[in-house]
Amino acid sequence: MARRKKIYEGKAKILYEGPEPGTLVQYFKDDATANNAEKHAVVEGKGVLNNRLSEFFMTGLGQVGIPTHFLRRLNMREQLVRQVEIIPLEVIVRNFAAGSMARRLGMEEGTPLPRPIIEFSFKDDKLGDPLVPEEYIIAFGWATQADLDDIVALALRVNDYLSGVMYGVGIKLVDFKIEVGRVWDGDYQRLVVADEISPDSCRLWDMSSGERLDKDVFRKDLGNLTDAYTEVARRLGVMPSNATHMPKPTLIN
Ligand code: 5GP
Repeated sequence: MARRKKIYEGKAKILYEGPEPGTLVQYFKDDATANNAEKHAVVEGKGVLNNRLSEFFMTGLGQVGIPTHFLRRLNMREQLVRQVEIIPLEVIVRNFAAGSMARRLGMEEGTPLPRPIIEFSFKDDKLGDPLVPEEYIIAFGWATQADLDDIVALALRVNDYLSGVMYGVGIKLVDFKIEVGRVWDGDYQRLVVADEISPDSCRLWDMSSGERLDKDVFRKDLGNLTDAYTEVARRLGVMPSNATHMPKPTLIN
């Protein structure tokens, strides 16, 4: 039997060659990592939830005219996406202080920011994805000034969309990370939202209790990660509340 070609394996996802040129299959694993993979666990059901949630957000972004790499979901753990040239940056948008920003500036987590703040990290696991100024990005040729202007506009539109959707289900969007890819149309490039949007890459706090509904549950040992992600999916109407607790299929010989 022919084996499909693995293009890339990351901490939480695998990319395989897609069925048509210019497409990839994005497979969501159950692996959870934190502190640049110092902490690792397999969290049953996480991949299924993130596949569904990322489909939900990417589809919604497409519906409001924000381009993404998403084409369609294939099954419980896989989605078909456009092959893009990933810009080697993590684009982080923050509405409230938390995580590395709160630590760096000695701010209390949850402090509202005067406006959404965008920052860039250089995608390099060995270096721990260091924060980089725009000057580095342009000087090292990771993106041009025009790309950065487009990326900022894209990130702010994603923030408006995601904040609104989350607000509607009683969740505060504290911050999130996106990745951006280039798609070539002949000599012209378009920038699209790539990778995934899921509770792995966002900070989501319950609006009234402040309960964490994102990967901080795993990073800080605050409870059961699958339960937190299931709650996000349930509120968004993405999945019935008990869908992740289905038994694994058993192989019958
Ligand atoms: P911080 O810089 O505070 O650790 O993270 C800011 C936001 O970006 C958080 O929502 C966090 O989940 C997300 N983020 C930062 N780095 C990564 C990363 O390497 N992977 C994922 N999935 N999310 C990240």
